[in-house]
Amino acid sequence: PEPEDLYATELVVDLDALRDNLRAIRARVGDERQVLLAVKADGYGHGAVPIARAAAGAGLVDWFGVATVPEALELRAAGIELPILKLSSARPGAELDAAVGAGIALTVTSVAGARALQESAARLGTRAVAHLKVDTGMRRIGVAPDQAAALALVLERECPDVDLQGLFTHLPVADTAAEDAFTRDQLARFAAVVDDVQAAIGRRIELVHAANSGGVLAHEQSWFDLVRPGIMVYGYYPDPSTPRTVPLRPLITWRSRLTQVKPVRAGESVGYGRTWVAPRDTVVGTVPVGYADGYNRLLSNRGRVLVGGRSCPVVGRVCMDQTMVDLGPDGPDAVGDEVVLIGRQGGEEISTDELAELLGTITYEITCRIDRRVPRVYL
Ligand code: PLP
Repeated sequence: PEPEDLYATELVVDLDALRDNLRAIRARVGDERQVLLAVKADGYGHGAVPIARAAAGAGLVDWFGVATVPEALELRAAGIELPILKLSSARPGAELDAAVGAGIALTVTSVAGARALQESAARLGTRAVAHLKVDTGMRRIGVAPDQAAALALVLERECPDVDLQGLFTHLPVADTAAEDAFTRDQLARFAAVVDDVQAAIGRRIELVHAANSGGVLAHEQSWFDLVRPGIMVYGYYPDPSTPRTVPLRPLITWRSRLTQVKPVRAGESVGYGRTWVAPRDTVVGTVPVGYADGYNRLLSNRGRVLVGGRSCPVVGRVCMDQTMVDLGPDGPDAVGDEVVLIGRQGGEEISTDELAELLGTITYEITCRIDRRVPRVYL
């Protein structure tokens, strides 16, 4: 039997929605640009391999972006042949060698990083691909703008086994309408760095890139040769203020089934800590999903699920593996009924955005944290 047959809960991932979102992104940025799909953190929790296979299989992406070398190797082991960029630098030694050996393009942010990449390529008797990262305002990783040309020259002149293919930066507020001036300034600074670097090395850099989802949606000047969308491919706008210039559809439905349904009398308490006491006679259902599955414990007495097309509040504390919900005084006596934690049922919907807002976080964190024990089922 499949894992989903042995477990009442599943995360349904709609790959048609993935393809539609990618087509809509392509339509916005134009066919002349390449698209790198960020599939780090297991494809933002959606499953990096099935997402990458579907995107590559439909010919809708040119690159994949990962955070770690094991993430890149997982894609290679699954037969993904498109280029992969590790979006942050790799440690010299085993990590860097594994990436170079697997033909993963690497982010370079320092002269020491450039030299380590050269040594790794030479040692392995292969060529390495470098994308030089410039910090134009994120203050996370990247070389300072006034040192980018010097670093590019080190790569060109002192690293014979390294191909300097890319030059990129990252935009911290491209999704935030109120911060447009910062992003415009940042892009102007980056464009100046691109000129400096190209003048220093005497040729054009093949792939200049800056746009995350916010850039794709709101800043045409950030598109350059390649765009790097993540969250929007999974169907979410990165911020409520980002202009909705591309139609998007979330990929996931998170569903389970009631395992028990029982009457609870007015005045009786439910769950650990007795934090909920029934204000009236009602029917309480138990859902086999808890914080270990990624259903945040902060949803205790705050979240809601859908059962029978109706909104049912979470009552009491979310447990590790189970959660209780108030089905109402005339709730269904129906063990096995479908429970939707994220997605649509009947005319009702619980969106990932709703959960993110309730938890004071972003959709990224909600989908990433749906635990791997929840089977992913692909449509
Ligand atoms: N590029 C880089 C360097 C990133 O770190 C990320 C993710 O944080 C992305 C692109 C994709 O960002 P988003 O999911 O906001 O589109």
